[in-house]
Amino acid sequence: MDVHCTTCGEPWDVYYLWQDAIFETGLSVEEAEAWRSLPRSEKLSDRYRKEFRAAGYEFGQTVINVVRCPGCPKDAKPDPERAHTKAALEELLGGDEDGLAATFEDYRL
Ligand SMILES: [Zn+2]
Repeated sequence: MDVHCTTCGEPWDVYYLWQDAIFETGLSVEEAEAWRSLPRSEKLSDRYRKEFRAAGYEFGQTVINVVRCPGCPKDAKPDPERAHTKAALEELLGGDEDGLAATFEDYRL
């Protein structure tokens, strides 16, 4: 399943975001592996957001809501309408990240 960056529209595979993107950050392999077993609610604590931001990623409430990605042009801004829709769906689907991924894919978000 693919989701799309809110800013540049780049497609991202959700399994990559769930499992592998963490290895692009400055975390050690051990830390990145430990991150993978965290509950989803703890994956975007301030510490990890900072690591992801340094690697070019910005997320909404979940790692599959890609607001900015490493492929974004430097000065590009998130599409406000798309950002709003994704945030609303994220809220609606709460902790159901699989359902959210499927919904984002259905709507090409
Ligand atoms: Zn992007």
